[in-house]
Amino acid sequence: MRCIICGKDLSPSEGKLICDDCFSKLLKDPQLLKEKVLDQIDNPILVVDKETTKIVGANENLLQFVGKPLDDVVGSLGGNVIGCIHADKLGGCGNTEFCSDCPLRNMVEETIEDNQSKVYNNIDMTLNSDGKVIRAKFDVSTKIKDGTVLIQINDFIVIDF
Ligand SMILES: [Zn+2]
Repeated sequence: MRCIICGKDLSPSEGKLICDDCFSKLLKDPQLLKEKVLDQIDNPILVVDKETTKIVGANENLLQFVGKPLDDVVGSLGGNVIGCIHADKLGGCGNTEFCSDCPLRNMVEETIEDNQSKVYNNIDMTLNSDGKVIRAKFDVSTKIKDGTVLIQINDFIVIDF
């Protein structure tokens, strides 16, 4: 396996598409990151900065899923993008009284703390979807990469609306 950007040899065991050097360069260009790397992944994927927890990348699948353009997604917080019902409350995503119980937030924090990939199934979230409140379950996996956390949605079902 070679890096799809620079052609450098990658360790096959890691299953990477791109070397760390190219990835950190692409983080400065969300459009290119999307086209060159993230769109190669079949599931919706979000890339979140470890320090700020703001979104630095997303693929086409994710944009379709949330119904927003890349420009609206990059620089935003996860809760605003997926339509968390608490995200527009006092303090905003990450700072409301509900955030300490947020499975998405805890998942990212655990991934950063343990510095390793994680799989989370049946994450229960209540979301605003086109003005309707829905309850949904997500299967998600996370990966730490070069100062970011990749969040991949593996499955999603609406359980109540
Ligand atoms: Zn490379």
